[in-house]
Amino acid sequence: MEVKNYMLERFLKYVTFDTESSDDATTVPTTEGQFVFARYLEQELKNMGLADVVLDDKGYLYATLPANTDKEMPVVGFIAHLDTSPDMSGKDVKPRVVESYCGGDIALDANENIVLKVSDFPEVEAYKGHDLIVTDGHTLLGADDTAGVAEIVTAIAYLQAHPEIEHGKIRIAFNPDEEIGRGAHNFNVPLFGCDWAYTVDGSCEGELEFENFNAGSATFSIQGRNVHPGYAKGKMLNALRVATAIVEAIPAAESPECTCGYEGFYHLMGINGGVDHAEVSYIIRDHNREIFERRMAFMKEVLANMNDKFGEGVVSLELKEQYRNMREQVEPKMHIIELAKKAMEEAGVVPVIKPIRGGTDGAQLSFMGLPCPNLFAGGINFHSRYEFVSVQVMEKAVMTIVNIASGVKNL
Ligand SMILES: [Zn+2]
Repeated sequence: MEVKNYMLERFLKYVTFDTESSDDATTVPTTEGQFVFARYLEQELKNMGLADVVLDDKGYLYATLPANTDKEMPVVGFIAHLDTSPDMSGKDVKPRVVESYCGGDIALDANENIVLKVSDFPEVEAYKGHDLIVTDGHTLLGADDTAGVAEIVTAIAYLQAHPEIEHGKIRIAFNPDEEIGRGAHNFNVPLFGCDWAYTVDGSCEGELEFENFNAGSATFSIQGRNVHPGYAKGKMLNALRVATAIVEAIPAAESPECTCGYEGFYHLMGINGGVDHAEVSYIIRDHNREIFERRMAFMKEVLANMNDKFGEGVVSLELKEQYRNMREQVEPKMHIIELAKKAMEEAGVVPVIKPIRGGTDGAQLSFMGLPCPNLFAGGINFHSRYEFVSVQVMEKAVMTIVNIASGVKNL
């Protein structure tokens, strides 16, 4: 079986489904297009002869590749999301394959001068010699995460075509609404029934992620005292002045624009209001749990200081925890990382372990009892008309999945 042809054909078909999710919708899934794609995949998985193919009424699709051995082995899962980002249109995607890319700019739409320029995206030159799938410049490509879907289905087809590769029970799942942060909300972890799983939703070749931010939010509400400005001396309390004092009290150098890697931050999201009332909102992020908690506690200190300065009760604070670093769930089971590393190396991939500066569905699933690191899917420039993916990197992602499935017996 030629991995490339099977995978490419699937991928080019899958991206034609319009599966943008929508932040405004309250339905599950948030858009009907995701259901259409899920039904198509349901039929494909049935045609492939997979077992337990279940598409639930929320658009979550599950299936099983049964074990081909009697040996007792853990059940491993692979997950990708059906939706594409609402940040850029995913309707009428017209992918184009640039065979053996020889470097330089790539004209996406020559007539309208929409060009993927090396000066804007220098990383593209690392793909010289690869077959690149690009857009026509008017939509996103949707490799995030259609590449993950195509890679998982192809890996399963590969395992079916190679019965000599001994593997235990493999589960796969495709979920809607990841891009709007709801992908894990209705994920049926007990039905999935895996010891652990991997999301195939990362970017560059080799990416292996199992650390994300701990995340919280802080909203300061300020009650000022508005008085006619001509007669305000000694009477007015300007809520906006209090707001700026709060912002000044929080270290500006610990902000998203000044940090990277494992450095956490306070991100000023909004200052709203007027003289009478104002609100200052922050999100707080840190990989390190202890430092994260210190950051959250610091918000309470700022609150106390402001009320000392401007009067008791002038400022109130709402602190919320949003999500946690999955590392604490994965760390007791580091063999699931070692297995993925080894699988990548066998596929000719150098594992690149780096922290996610955000959250993932996998983090939420990890805390729902399903440890779930993230593997590369190959897409670059997600959520944009400049999105592209290398066919050769996708092939390596397929083989990484195959190697994980076959490596479980050695644990
Ligand atoms: Zn994604």
